Amino acid sequence: MKILLVEDEKRLSYFIKKGLIEQGFAVDSAFDGEEGLYLAKEETYDVIILDVMLPKLSGIELCKKLRELKKETPVLMLTAKSEVDDKVEGLNSGADDYLTKPFVFAELKARINALLRRSYHQVTNNLTIDDLEVDPLKHIVKRNGKMIKLTPKEFAILELLLRQKNEVVTRTQVIEHVWDYNFESLSNVVDVFIGTLRKKIDKGYKVPLIHTLHGVGYMATDKKPQT
Ligand code: CA
Repeated sequence: MKILLVEDEKRLSYFIKKGLIEQGFAVDSAFDGEEGLYLAKEETYDVIILDVMLPKLSGIELCKKLRELKKETPVLMLTAKSEVDDKVEGLNSGADDYLTKPFVFAELKARINALLRRSYHQVTNNLTIDDLEVDPLKHIVKRNGKMIKLTPKEFAILELLLRQKNEVVTRTQVIEHVWDYNFESLSNVVDVFIGTLRKKIDKGYKVPLIHTLHGVGYMATDKKPQT
């Protein structure tokens, strides 16, 4: 899943980005409101983390502009402790949730996950298909009760496929949601990742769950995929 982080405090931005990347997220960072607005308009993000106090354009103005442009990306606003009005104004400007600084990383992660769950219309935290279980918060993958170790990128691709299970996910969608802005999508890197993922998830099991639909994309399903 891909996140846009708009935060002008360099140390905090670095800390959040590092933590999110370790969790398998792709992260683009912007350090002022204008840069943030540009990226939010041009790129595809699953969640935008938006600081309120920003140079050039405030988080609240940025959020208002996005909503005026009918961009519905979930926004998590970061507010300072004393700024009670910011929370109200933030929510009124179209933000979906807010987090007060300073916060612990676990809470940020939980709130991002709640927003993802909402936008992909999921009721529970865990993503499941057949005997495969993925816990995006604890970063645990199990098939038939057995733990499977994945790299952050493999995990991110699996999470994306499971959030849209039984639906085709195109290669472009995988790149958009799993890699950041600097990624050059010229190679067959997605197919390589799908290949290793399939080995780890499906090898030794009767029902294959990760499918490649040639010329179309990929699908996680326990049925025979129809195209
Ligand atoms: Ca700030």
